[in-house]
Amino acid sequence: MTFLSLLSNKKLLKAVADSGYTDPTPIQQQAIPAILAGSDIMAGAQTGTGKTAAFALPLLSKLDDNNYQIKKIRVLVLTPTRELAQQVYKSFEDYGNYTHIKMAIAYGGVSIKPQVKQINSGAEVLVATPGRLLDHIENGSVSLQDLQCLVFDEADRMLDMGFQAEINNILKHSPKKRQTLLFSATFDDAIIKLSKTLLNNPKMIEVSERNAAAAEVEQVIYTVDADRKRELTSHLIGKRNWRQVLIFTRTKQTADILAKEMCKDGIKAASIHGDKSQGARNKALAEFKEGKTRALVATDVAARGLDIVDLQYVINFELPHIAEDYIHRIGRTGRAGKTGLAISLMSPGEEWLLEAVEKVLDSKVPQESLAGYELDLTKKPNSNSFEIKKEDDSWSRKKKKYADNSKGRRPRR
Ligand code: AMP
Repeated sequence: MTFLSLLSNKKLLKAVADSGYTDPTPIQQQAIPAILAGSDIMAGAQTGTGKTAAFALPLLSKLDDNNYQIKKIRVLVLTPTRELAQQVYKSFEDYGNYTHIKMAIAYGGVSIKPQVKQINSGAEVLVATPGRLLDHIENGSVSLQDLQCLVFDEADRMLDMGFQAEINNILKHSPKKRQTLLFSATFDDAIIKLSKTLLNNPKMIEVSERNAAAAEVEQVIYTVDADRKRELTSHLIGKRNWRQVLIFTRTKQTADILAKEMCKDGIKAASIHGDKSQGARNKALAEFKEGKTRALVATDVAARGLDIVDLQYVINFELPHIAEDYIHRIGRTGRAGKTGLAISLMSPGEEWLLEAVEKVLDSKVPQESLAGYELDLTKKPNSNSFEIKKEDDSWSRKKKKYADNSKGRRPRR
């Protein structure tokens, strides 16, 4: 199948060619005709599958064909994080490069005024995070009265982050008659429930096995003592000469400490998490993408949806508490048909986290120990890791519940 057989709009086809895409990905093959036909969609697609173009191209095609004289917001894309909003917005700009369609972006943590100006300058596409969108609606700077299509990108993460109330509120301000597209990397009861309230006779699209890790990603677990994880991380990057690696930690504190320690090891590293200002997050991401830093240490929320071209290596410095996050994490590599390697470091006492991950994957991840980093069996589990003690305690009380619960929902705290 070619893009030409999916899309007739020459301006969009030109932009697709500029992006270097030759063939549509499986999700694009299925979603583009369905969205053009006006169907609601429920799509199980991880990032890296080309899902952004799968909804952006047909939506832009409809807007361009209609060429509305009165410019109102007709397409709204909701994303859970600012970073994903920026990426989706950039994709709309790239794909819409040869059209006259204007896009706007709205997320929190930055001044609202320039956003209002951009929205009022005739934007027909708005990419937004839920909280800031509601600020705009309350201020009167956004009206969803003329909305034709509402897209939920990474809906599972939106629910994980506790945006249910915001979603309900946004729906109250949206017309009932509209097209709704829901994209989610994982499906659990909460997503199914949400989809029932949102979607009307949706077309189901699934491009990878539910809750399955990208097949192109080789996975391995290295067992190592907690207090040697940092050394092993720097060793892997240095000795194997990895140019770019994304490292995941469970907490913001660990992300900061690890990045600092790695710099001391001579590996340029930066951290990215929710306590950093938007400017600092953007800078860290830009420097990583430009190759100025070799290692980006991130928490799950901050890294969600990041698209880093050609990223080959992911290290889970700590396995996640929410087993599904493992899939999101390793999905940062092996994207758009490229291969990747995901290494997870596991110390004694963390086996329950792996069990929960393997339950979600429905397969075992091979375990190895690296020469020189074998476990010291005389040590107590979890001695001297970076983890903040208080957090460990609260999680360990919940760990049994998590290990038992393959849905791994994050409890409200
Ligand atoms: P996404 O799943 O939307 O985050 O896209 C992941 C990556 O795949 C992005 O870098 C896109 O630019 C790229 N991509 C999207 N569609 C295609 C395609 N048809 N061929 C090659 N790469 C693509």
